[in-house]
Amino acid sequence: MAVVMKFGGTSVADPPALQRLIGIVRQHLPAAGSADAVPVVVVSALSRVTDKLIAITRLAEEGDTAGVADEMHALVERHVAVATAVTDASRAALVANIRGEFEELTGLVHALAVLREVSPRSMDAVLAVGEIVSSRIAAAALADCGIASEWVDARTVLVTDADHTGAVPDMTATCERVRTHVAPIVAAGKVPVLGGFIAATASGVTTTLGRGGSDYSGAIFGACLGVGEIQIWTDVDGMLTADPRIVQAPHVVPHLSFSEASELAYFGAKVLHPSTILPAVAKNIPVRILNSHRPENRGTLITEQAQHARGMLTAIACKRDVTVIDITSTRMLMAHGFLRRLFEVFERFKTAVDVVTTSEVSVSVTVDDTRRVDGILDNLQNFAEASCEPHMAIICAVGENLRADPTLFARAVTALDTIPLRLVSQAGSRRNVTFVLRDNDVPEAMTRLHEQFFRR
Ligand code: ADP
Ligand code: ASP
Ligand code: MG
Repeated sequence: MAVVMKFGGTSVADPPALQRLIGIVRQHLPAAGSADAVPVVVVSALSRVTDKLIAITRLAEEGDTAGVADEMHALVERHVAVATAVTDASRAALVANIRGEFEELTGLVHALAVLREVSPRSMDAVLAVGEIVSSRIAAAALADCGIASEWVDARTVLVTDADHTGAVPDMTATCERVRTHVAPIVAAGKVPVLGGFIAATASGVTTTLGRGGSDYSGAIFGACLGVGEIQIWTDVDGMLTADPRIVQAPHVVPHLSFSEASELAYFGAKVLHPSTILPAVAKNIPVRILNSHRPENRGTLITEQAQHARGMLTAIACKRDVTVIDITSTRMLMAHGFLRRLFEVFERFKTAVDVVTTSEVSVSVTVDDTRRVDGILDNLQNFAEASCEPHMAIICAVGENLRADPTLFARAVTALDTIPLRLVSQAGSRRNVTFVLRDNDVPEAMTRLHEQFFRR
């Protein structure tokens, strides 16, 4: 079965991680004489590198050239050390290549430091270097241990619009490029290795798909190639019943539907970028989340349909630090067109709304991108009273069973008991229930819900 294998930052973090990657890829090579295709490998930047690159852009904005130089030096040396440890025949060329990429980046960042301004377009050019060098290292490491492989510059393949730092792929153009740039390498029996997250506009300007976007890249390439499975290799055993950073000892969910996975990813299950499922749904390709530290585990399989034990929720997720905007208007009473006018304001300010609740005279929404909240409030105040409350959070309980079993909703509310709930909403699909509450209450609320539904 042809597969795309996407390895996240911790799965390419250091030499031992790259050795595990090589072992996993080797296991997925087709047996001699088999008609199966070789896997396609997509990698993120080495763990924490994207954060460091963002920190470098902040230093540039402050004009701190000494700080930039220090951070840049640490990054170059870390990459060179990893490259040196995992290669042999390709070592000299690879190290020269890495130094060259960082030299170019240093020139760019110094120019930004002079201007003290980092536009979204420049930000993408800076961040892309993380995935460019990590994919070069992975390709060379595979080749040096005898796995025929070829590095492909993902920016020549993944075509997006020019919405920098969160660009939207053009699937038709991308699939065309996959056919011409990637498929022939697979046909020749070589493993193509690409950086995730990075892309370019049709005219060749570097873009990125937004934080965590390598998962999305993997799914896009998988959909274009029509593979049998899109594998997301990470540092946990699969989709867990709750965020392991908040709840103690969550369990692996063995099977999820596409819709459940989308809801969980959207509402904060960081293990999957929220858009990952879209290309998979379009081509009905299963997605599997696997642990690169324990490749023998089965992980979580995400398919169109999933069966769960009766009376169970599937998982809970949370999105922290969102802002609630309350809009009240007595004029809304019976007035058609009010909601259109209201949502037009959010559209004008390019701000996505997550949870919406309405009563006769008020509407409350949550947003997690607060960059334009002041403008939104100003505009709303032209025709309604509007106020906002920061430091809130969304908890989302997901499960196909919510449809059939009305007691699940009641049990969730009961479990939250004395915790003040700001908004409660059950989606029309009845696949999820969302609670909006104070961010400070999240650990307690998640723990109680997890106890209620997942205690073994
Ligand atoms: P990668 O670098 O492999 O893409 P990420 O850090 O993006 O990894 O995603 C994996 C992390 O997602 C896990 O280490 C875990 O802390 C976090 N996470 C949050 N919610 C969940 C969940 N429901 N299931 C699994 N992991 C989750
Ligand atoms: N390196 C990018 C990030 O940290 C993309 C990814 O890891 O998926 O956001
Ligand atoms: Mg990720």
